[in-house]
Amino acid sequence: MPKAQETVLEINLDSLAHNYKYLRSKLDKSTKFLGVVKAFAYGNDAVAVAKTLVALGADYLAVAYVHEGIALRNSGIELPILVLHPQPANFRDLIEHCLEPSLYSPRILREFIKVAEAQAQSDYPVHIKFNTGLNRLGFWENDVAYVMSQLNETSSIRVKSIFSHLAASEDAREQEFTQNQFSSFKSICDELSVQLGYKPMLHLCNTSGVINYPEAHFDMVRCGIGLYGFGNAAAEDHNLKPIASLKTVISQIHLIEIDETVGYNRGYKAKGFEKIATLPIGHADGIGRHFGNERGYVTIAGKKAAIIGNVCMDMIMVNITGIECSEGDEVVVFGASTPASQLADSVGTISYEVITGISQRVKRRYIF
Ligand SMILES: *Cc1c(COP(=O)(O)O)cnc(C)c1O
Repeated sequence: MPKAQETVLEINLDSLAHNYKYLRSKLDKSTKFLGVVKAFAYGNDAVAVAKTLVALGADYLAVAYVHEGIALRNSGIELPILVLHPQPANFRDLIEHCLEPSLYSPRILREFIKVAEAQAQSDYPVHIKFNTGLNRLGFWENDVAYVMSQLNETSSIRVKSIFSHLAASEDAREQEFTQNQFSSFKSICDELSVQLGYKPMLHLCNTSGVINYPEAHFDMVRCGIGLYGFGNAAAEDHNLKPIASLKTVISQIHLIEIDETVGYNRGYKAKGFEKIATLPIGHADGIGRHFGNERGYVTIAGKKAAIIGNVCMDMIMVNITGIECSEGDEVVVFGASTPASQLADSVGTISYEVITGISQRVKRRYIF
């Protein structure tokens, strides 16, 4: 693999295929697989990831917002795309691009029916989202009658699926809560299916749900983080491969003496004769200020180098005292051997935030 010569996010599509196959191996043959590619496929690249998932045989894709779905359609992706959190302002665009909305509240249901009828749609596929304990988006169980009353008055839409989202699928201490989510989801689905007179698809599990609750896969599962190589648990991380490696280079090396300071607001003070390196990556690239002041680190020549002082917009400085390296050398921020989940731990966040935070300024390079 060529060494990085500038800041680059390397995306390994072979690893993506490995993760997809691993997650699929947890499912029954008949269970459908929805790949969650919201937020640029968790900071990677939605189009490249989606095209790979299509080639691998995924059944469905999901994004959070309508414009994310439009970008996929504009790149030629024809798989059904569920839009998890659409807003009424975008319903016309959504229909025009054959995207499928999650309808999550009485207001959203009414607004969507209005637009679908105005466009003379019939049986437009929609997905009804229920809240079973996350208390984020979704109808409540006692909204079933209202949902039915709206559906009975229109032929513009048809329920393609009923779904809900788990609040703590990765947390073994919350098994009882999760089981309660299963039973309330089941009773909602039974009630609604009987009244509909047909059987929509049912889906509930995210990555950790797939891994921890094989009994709750229903007709389809929705995987995001697992595709990108993280299992939300050390044991599962071993079965998955992080697909992204964030690399950069040493722009300049300085030798500084005791009490000399580094960076804005003189955030770091040398404890002795030290060697520091300046790297072309900063908070505008996704290395937030919380990584500064020796909380985050990078890896150079296999050794950890702490990020010293305040993170700048376009640069960070790292302590390379005792590390043999030169200007122009490659630096790893995260990758297969120093996973983003570890870097996340060091600043009190989770892999999801670190990887989705890598900004669009960082060039993407694909490895097959
Ligand atoms: C983001 C999201 C997922 C994917 O969750 P992972 O933990 O990344 O697998 C699934 N379902 C919904 C509703 C989501 O918002």
